Amino acid sequence: MSQCKVCRAESGLFLCSRHIKYLEDGLGEIPWLTSELQVTITKRDRLHQVVGHSDQDTRSVINFGASRLHSDVEILLADWVSRLVHDNGLQFLPKYKVPHDFIGPLLLHWSRLPRGYTPTPTRMSRWLAHHVNTAAMREDAGDLYREIIGLTGDPDKPQGYPGRLVAAINRRTKLFAGPCPTPIGYGEQGEEIACAIPLYAVDGQEVVTCKRCRHEVDVQENRQQALKTRDLMTEAQLLETLDTLDEHVPRVTFYEWLKDKQVYVHGYLHEGGIVPKKIRNSDPRVFSLAQVRVLRWQAMQEKVAS
Ligand SMILES: [Zn+2]
Ligand SMILES: [Zn+2]
Repeated sequence: MSQCKVCRAESGLFLCSRHIKYLEDGLGEIPWLTSELQVTITKRDRLHQVVGHSDQDTRSVINFGASRLHSDVEILLADWVSRLVHDNGLQFLPKYKVPHDFIGPLLLHWSRLPRGYTPTPTRMSRWLAHHVNTAAMREDAGDLYREIIGLTGDPDKPQGYPGRLVAAINRRTKLFAGPCPTPIGYGEQGEEIACAIPLYAVDGQEVVTCKRCRHEVDVQENRQQALKTRDLMTEAQLLETLDTLDEHVPRVTFYEWLKDKQVYVHGYLHEGGIVPKKIRNSDPRVFSLAQVRVLRWQAMQEKVAS
């Protein structure tokens, strides 16, 4: 009986089933994270213009760091792929693929690889995830685990260091700063109607300018206000809240509204904050409760009228 190299649990392999799963999940996040890192590298200039720091040196230093991290990830993955290929007799091919010069009949759903197939972080991490059980048979499985988790964050310590890839992408994180509170008109009952465009601020930014009404909004104050009203929530929270309010909306209906773009995604929940774009692939979408309540009310009116 061997021990899990991470938690020392008794296991037939060098990783227990929980840590095999964590490793597989970490590898599964790499395609998304590296593509986001690529965005960070190529779009840094534009972001800096928006944020207002156009300092040439800062920009190139951050870009340099991100590019280096990208090549570190490539080297790390290529190293583990070649270890598994050499020591464990595996072939580096995606699932259901054979080399482009393969001769013979192909099985159903299988196909030949394109000529000049090159490994990318996405292909390598998917391949490693597919062979995660073979990796767990290796005595150095703990090293692979630590290197991957070092990139994507340790699931055993969710409040700890988020991992190098997540940290590099997080630097450009913009957080939800609440809907624009600027009054732009009056309703039938004379109540103020706010502009309500979702505002986002980069860490440390004190004032944001609304894209629609061009008003400047205090980030801190508006964020507090938005938290107080607790309007944005994930799908699960939203449907549950509606049930609590006795305003049940069937999930199917909610998806129809989403498909028809009557309901839209206001952002994603990431580590307790709301961000405009996903940082991890698993970050859930958030929706506006108020928007869905209005839609439900309208749907009821239509039903009554027909
Ligand atoms: Zn373990
Ligand atoms: Zn506005």
